[in-house]
Amino acid sequence: NWVMWNDRYVKEEEIMISIEDRGYQFGDGIYEVIRVYEGSLFTAQEHIDRFFASAEKIGIVVPFTKDVFHKRMYDLVEMNEVRTGQVYVQITRGAAPRAHQYPDSSVPAVITAYTKEVARPLTQFELGVAAKTIEDIRWLRCDIKSLNLLGNVMAKQEAIQANCFEAILHRGDRVTEGSSSNMYGVKDGIVYTHPVDNYILNGITRSVVKESCQRLRIPFVEEAMDLQDLSTMDEFFLTSTTAEITPIVEIDGNSVGSGRPGNITRQLQLAFEEKIALNEPS
Ligand code: PLP
Repeated sequence: NWVMWNDRYVKEEEIMISIEDRGYQFGDGIYEVIRVYEGSLFTAQEHIDRFFASAEKIGIVVPFTKDVFHKRMYDLVEMNEVRTGQVYVQITRGAAPRAHQYPDSSVPAVITAYTKEVARPLTQFELGVAAKTIEDIRWLRCDIKSLNLLGNVMAKQEAIQANCFEAILHRGDRVTEGSSSNMYGVKDGIVYTHPVDNYILNGITRSVVKESCQRLRIPFVEEAMDLQDLSTMDEFFLTSTTAEITPIVEIDGNSVGSGRPGNITRQLQLAFEEKIALNEPS
């Protein structure tokens, strides 16, 4: 497989990353994961826009235009003949003698990208998963898709150890998002999810779901759910690039609604399938 290393395509073994790379030492960088369906990037422009936006928020300049960057992602998928999979791409502030403050702006950023085949988790879409509520101990800039994922990593680990697929994070009483997903509850036909601000990542899949709700005339209310209200929800689901729309049928050991994926979740999954089917080569 070919990987991208700054402005070159090389074999993975050829990549050399400095031990003083700021991504390695400080988590000083940002990343994206872009889905590939049938050999084509999905919602590529949205991911590229968010990549550039995250970089800008921490003062990293991406040394490409968005168009060139898009072409690089496209080429990588072509070169590796990815069918159903993903592209992972990250940029760090580069390598410099270790010191917390940003190095001189002449230090070049370091970009790496690679692809892999990843099957769609169809059984999970069908049956749903269990989740565990966990206090959200992350920082206050969750809108940045930062390489610093320790809060997310620890939450996911705790969920997995409890035989759950995902953590439902909450700051006090307010439900924010998942450790690597956005979270939604459905009550009386209304979809509730946390508003887009510094407490969550503005998910690309979230935008697709919001659009589908508007088209299907399903009320989409951007208000944080109360932790106490989770047990009263009719349906619950999460979204992410790789988990798409995954029903949550159990929270902290208790069934959600009937204990099976709900009707609105199913409608949104169907709408998502349609969008994938209409995906144009990019
Ligand atoms: N929230 C967090 C913390 C994430 O890491 C992710 C991505 O995996 C998401 C939400 C979902 O975002 P997207 O739908 O763009 O993958």
